[in-house]
Amino acid sequence: MADPLIEAITKWVQAAPEPVRAMIANKTANVTTDKKAKADVNYRPADDPAESCATCTNFDGSGGCDRTSGSIKPTYVCDQHSNGGSSDSASDPDNDGDPGSNEDGADESAE
Ligand code: SF4
Repeated sequence: MADPLIEAITKWVQAAPEPVRAMIANKTANVTTDKKAKADVNYRPADDPAESCATCTNFDGSGGCDRTSGSIKPTYVCDQHSNGGSSDSASDPDNDGDPGSNEDGADESAE
């Protein structure tokens, strides 16, 4: 049996004026084509915390990802990992998301 909420939404969309249906179809197409399934991008537990979802620019910080569908754990990683163009963590050695400080709060750029 179909989900009652999905059925209600489907009826609402079918009854909506054409411009609204076209807009929804366009948004839906973008969502389904932009994100890949976990199985297609080798989503797996990360071996290196510095190369994990937590450090990826696609991670939204609350369990979502711009490029992989479903619930995302910060301790995992996939083949789409991106650090924003830098190939290492040299600009942020302690990987705390703040390139200007390390664990002791000292300015890393002066070290
Ligand atoms: S590593 Fe992959 S799944 Fe994780 S946030 Fe980045 S793109 Fe998304």
